[in-house]
Amino acid sequence: MKYVASCSFGKDSLAMLIKIKELGLPLDEVIYCEIMFDENISGETPKMFSFIQKAEKILKEKFNIEVKHLRGISFKEQFYKIKQKGNHIGDNYGFPYVIGSWCNSRLKIEPIRRYFRENKNVIQYVGIAYDEPKRYERLDHTTHICPLYDLKITEKEAMEICKKYDLVSPIYKTSFRGGCWFCPKQSLGQLRWLYREHRDLWNILKSMEKDSHNTFRPNQTLEQLENRFKNEAEQTNIYDYIGE
Ligand code: SF4
Repeated sequence: MKYVASCSFGKDSLAMLIKIKELGLPLDEVIYCEIMFDENISGETPKMFSFIQKAEKILKEKFNIEVKHLRGISFKEQFYKIKQKGNHIGDNYGFPYVIGSWCNSRLKIEPIRRYFRENKNVIQYVGIAYDEPKRYERLDHTTHICPLYDLKITEKEAMEICKKYDLVSPIYKTSFRGGCWFCPKQSLGQLRWLYREHRDLWNILKSMEKDSHNTFRPNQTLEQLENRFKNEAEQTNIYDYIGE
């Protein structure tokens, strides 16, 4: 039997790893599904990417935990793959749709499935806090263990455990949701931030627009969004000037 913990680097999975180690529970492997933009660039936002690197160092030094990265096909590779079924046969996949996006199943679920196909007889640790009973009830308890739930540790308490080890992800320090920097489901505010703070990533995404049969957001291209952000910046400058 192999004991495997999934880690997203959110507060619940990190607090769960700490508790597993504190209690001396069996743990053979920790896995993290790393979505990639291409073979070199992570899908995590640069802030989250740096946090994960820091967290892995802390986990290794303080708890002797190594995290195994699972990777599937990259966003860019899937984007340029030719569709063999469904709508737009013969076109490439292009940007994922907001509803029915191809990215979650191809980039995230597939490498996890492959891991569990290759690793049989696994007991899986899942980071579900005590205040998430519905998620807990849905699990098969013959193959899954939820240390936080069993210890009656709430989400708030999980956060306190992470704080103690400086393991609080940047997603809790801002209003930003986690997820890929190229996500078509992200808010306008997050896209504005990507345009302003990470122009290199923005430009990579924009350069792919001409190759996609669909727009990045429903009826909205990255070019249009960029013009909008530029106009906003110009107006801000005028107001700054008037204010002086
Ligand atoms: S965060 Fe967005 S882009 Fe990334 S897998 Fe989920 S839906 Fe797709």
